[in-house]
Amino acid sequence: MIGANIEKIKQQTGQKVKLIAVSKTKPVELLMEAYTAGQRLFGENKVQEMLGKYEQMPKDIEWHMIGHLQSNKVKYMASFVGMIHSVDSLKLLEVINKEGEKNNRVINCLLQIFIADEETKFGLDKSELIALLESDSYKQMKNIRICGLMGMATNTDDESKIRLEFRGLKQLFDEIQHRYFANQPTFKELSMGMSSDYLIAAEEGSTLIRVGSLIFGERDYPQKG
Ligand SMILES: *Cc1c(COP(=O)(O)O)cnc(C)c1O
Repeated sequence: MIGANIEKIKQQTGQKVKLIAVSKTKPVELLMEAYTAGQRLFGENKVQEMLGKYEQMPKDIEWHMIGHLQSNKVKYMASFVGMIHSVDSLKLLEVINKEGEKNNRVINCLLQIFIADEETKFGLDKSELIALLESDSYKQMKNIRICGLMGMATNTDDESKIRLEFRGLKQLFDEIQHRYFANQPTFKELSMGMSSDYLIAAEEGSTLIRVGSLIFGERDYPQKG
């Protein structure tokens, strides 16, 4: 069933969109089912849980940290994390850079942008994003790579509202790419869309969708991103 779910989502969204299977709260048996079906990108929102699964699962998996991140947890995943989607401050980026340096690697990051009209979601606004990219501290970092932006739409049934939020994020992505990353082809990822809105996100230019419950089933304990 998990394999069929993955296949269906991939067919709907096409080749340009990469699927991250969000496996938070799910046991490794279910992750292995997805792995056996060919899934290699997995997303988790808690560092300890991701570390535990990393240790148990095959090593050709790319692990994506998608949840709000405390800087003191970065060190536990710095050696293996494939991409951190939830970078929402310069301070956090500085810590990731330092841990990247300790591990002698460059850690892929997305900057999380606040696009919803909810108090509960994290992220930078446009002026904070620009301030970060223009800071001396950022310009000197050698052990992080900004690969793009991430955002979460408002949790609503209003599809046109969701679409406008995603469209705004895509516009910001294009502007930032043009202004700060013109010669850097690695700035190419736009992480937006989850189970309830990935089709809209894909239409609006997402390159990475983060889908959990539609692949693995509803979670027992609802979690906030
Ligand atoms: C849990 C989570 C998802 C996936 O949510 P589903 O609705 O189960 O697809 C996507 N992004 C983030 C940041 C999450 O925390």
